[in-house]
Amino acid sequence: MSEKTMGEKLQEQLLDTPKNGYDRIDDATQAAIQEFSEGYKAFLDNGKTEGEVVEYTIAMLKEHGYEEYQLGKKYGPGDKLYLNNRGKALAFVTMGTKPLSEGVKMVASHIDSPRIDMKPHPLYEDTQTAFFKTHYYGGLRKYQWVVMPLALHGVVVKKDGTQVKIHIGDDEGDPVFVINDLLPHLAQQQSQRTLAEGIKGEELNIVVGGCPFKDDKVSQRVKLAIAKILFDKYSIVESDFVTAEITAVPAFGARDVGFDRSFVGGYGQDDRVCAYTSLIAALESPNPTYTTVTVFADREEIGSCGNTGMKSAYLKHFLADLAAPYGIPVRNILDSSECLSSDVAAAVDPTFPDVTEKYNSAYMNYGVSIEKYTGSRGKSGTSEASAVFFAKLRKLFDDAGVVWQTGELGKVDQGGGGTVAVYLAEENMDVIDVGVPVWSMHAPFEVTSKLDIYMAYRAYVTFLNMKD
Ligand code: MN
Ligand code: MN
Repeated sequence: MSEKTMGEKLQEQLLDTPKNGYDRIDDATQAAIQEFSEGYKAFLDNGKTEGEVVEYTIAMLKEHGYEEYQLGKKYGPGDKLYLNNRGKALAFVTMGTKPLSEGVKMVASHIDSPRIDMKPHPLYEDTQTAFFKTHYYGGLRKYQWVVMPLALHGVVVKKDGTQVKIHIGDDEGDPVFVINDLLPHLAQQQSQRTLAEGIKGEELNIVVGGCPFKDDKVSQRVKLAIAKILFDKYSIVESDFVTAEITAVPAFGARDVGFDRSFVGGYGQDDRVCAYTSLIAALESPNPTYTTVTVFADREEIGSCGNTGMKSAYLKHFLADLAAPYGIPVRNILDSSECLSSDVAAAVDPTFPDVTEKYNSAYMNYGVSIEKYTGSRGKSGTSEASAVFFAKLRKLFDDAGVVWQTGELGKVDQGGGGTVAVYLAEENMDVIDVGVPVWSMHAPFEVTSKLDIYMAYRAYVTFLNMKD
């Protein structure tokens, strides 16, 4: 082996040259990466709405000894508990050996994803076809949601309070639903529209049937026939839709992508990829030094508003109640707490290189992405982690062999976005964004890297088990 030149030595010593994650791991880790994604794909398939994620997660928590939080109870080291907020948001806790006054280690993700909700009066008939009118939720690109199989998920709460679950389209043999688009032969005018207007909100109408009810005495016979099927199957009538929560989601499940199976493709990975990895990290951290809090927030995609979103007081109230038996004011917990805002990052897409700045963006397979700030333009609407906090995590993750990278959300003037980080920072915690890079974010079929997923999990485990 020839000796390194001075230039090579200096390069190694002085320059920060990011490396592909696969060049930084051993064969055992590579096998673990493949294995880890299996549970993740099952999580995606079982949780296409925030309600389903909460239900699936609680079952896993119970298997691992978590119990529902009891107000007023004094919890001690190693105790495991969860708080279910209206079946849509979740916080789960493992009590540490240090007192709560020394703060908690929090990992906060969100479990809502862009989707297509039904309007209060969804069912109508036009030209002997029955449709559902919809109202999209979150920042989705409407043209991506047409001409593909959709499933309907949700719950109908009837006047007497009984709940009827809707879950149709995912299982083999189920019918699916679809939003139509024009044929190219007649799309001359539509093709002149901008991409943003290519499909408009009021064109997201879902085909739900076409067979008329056999009775000459009534009008709207297809609508009536569908109403009858809904009544026979779910015991619901048209007015029950007004108080229902039904949404359309992609009917297909999560799949491996690529000949080498190095990617996961699937719906709702923003941000269930961070939810799943933080869940497994918490389950594998039964005896933490600091109390750990894992949060699955709702409503992030529409601005974290509402009682199940991160702007809601519920989380702070919960921490206050948890500390009350010890006589610790909640502000003393928050002031000394540290939090990872675990949300996805935008990965550089080689097909669309112009929107990202290549020296400061997250890349697929380069590990979990740590972002000091998000926001748009002049760091608008974001919190920014301190250099002290970031440096502490840098050492922690490097020492634990976590493969990580850093990035910004696109070019400075390109656009931007935010995460729940800002709302947690406003409670006076140290917060930084740590999440998985994604391609085609908010599309019906988003793509992530299995290596990055695994490294997010490794980062969260390392963080939750911090000793000081
Ligand atoms: Mn997100
Ligand atoms: Mn999002």
